[in-house]
Amino acid sequence: MTETTHQITVDAQGCIGCGMCARVCPCGAMQVVDKQAVIDYTRCISCGMCATKCPKHVIRDAFGIFAAAPAL
Ligand code: SF4
Ligand code: SF4
Repeated sequence: MTETTHQITVDAQGCIGCGMCARVCPCGAMQVVDKQAVIDYTRCISCGMCATKCPKHVIRDAFGIFAAAPAL
């Protein structure tokens, strides 16, 4: 699956590299590289878990559903 067809993206600005997204990802698709979260689109299933947990709200989904969920 390519990035252009995918639902989940991480903003280029604003990520603090906390790693919360990587910890909750069920697929091992999220990694933090140089304090920036990076999605492996060959693994990501667009579940949106990372977007609901990001404390900086920099993970977006194409439909604005997951990112709108309050951080728990
Ligand atoms: S959408 Fe789901 S599978 Fe994709 S990176 Fe986020 S938590 Fe992982
Ligand atoms: S949870 Fe958000 S701020 Fe933390 S590493 Fe992931 S994208 Fe960056």
